[in-house]
Amino acid sequence: MSYDNDNVFAKILRGEIPSTKLYEDAETLAFMDIMPRTDGHCLVIPKTPCRNALDATPDQLAAVIATAQKLAKAVMAGLDADGVVIEQYNEAPAGQEVFHLHFHVLPMREGVKMRAPGQMGDFDAIAGYAEKIRAALV
Ligand code: AMP
Repeated sequence: MSYDNDNVFAKILRGEIPSTKLYEDAETLAFMDIMPRTDGHCLVIPKTPCRNALDATPDQLAAVIATAQKLAKAVMAGLDADGVVIEQYNEAPAGQEVFHLHFHVLPMREGVKMRAPGQMGDFDAIAGYAEKIRAALV
């Protein structure tokens, strides 16, 4: 399995398609998921190429999980979430659709289930959650 430079997250990293950015540092980028499974669903990726956790280096994984923790804390505080799921899929049979390593950060609320995947979110609502998450980043 090789890395495809034309995957959608590589295009976001190159600025070829837009994203609602939340945070970036030298190694990672966090942005909003456009098909959110919960309100405030966001993604964390490494800036360097790797397909998923199977070919990632320990350094890539460490950087991405550190940023995922930062975003998890921000969604808890900024969106007043009751809990947060951090999850990651490897290869299509496991549910991976975009083949650039990413961790999902999903704010959870008491009694509210995740929506089915693949439903486009409301852009104004996503922008509103993004503003609150950014404001809660420390
Ligand atoms: P996965 O199934 O783990 O590969 O998840 C890929 C995720 O990327 C899904 O939650 C999609 O909604 C999300 N996604 C796909 N295209 C974009 C995009 N252009 N910007 C933000 N999120 C995206």
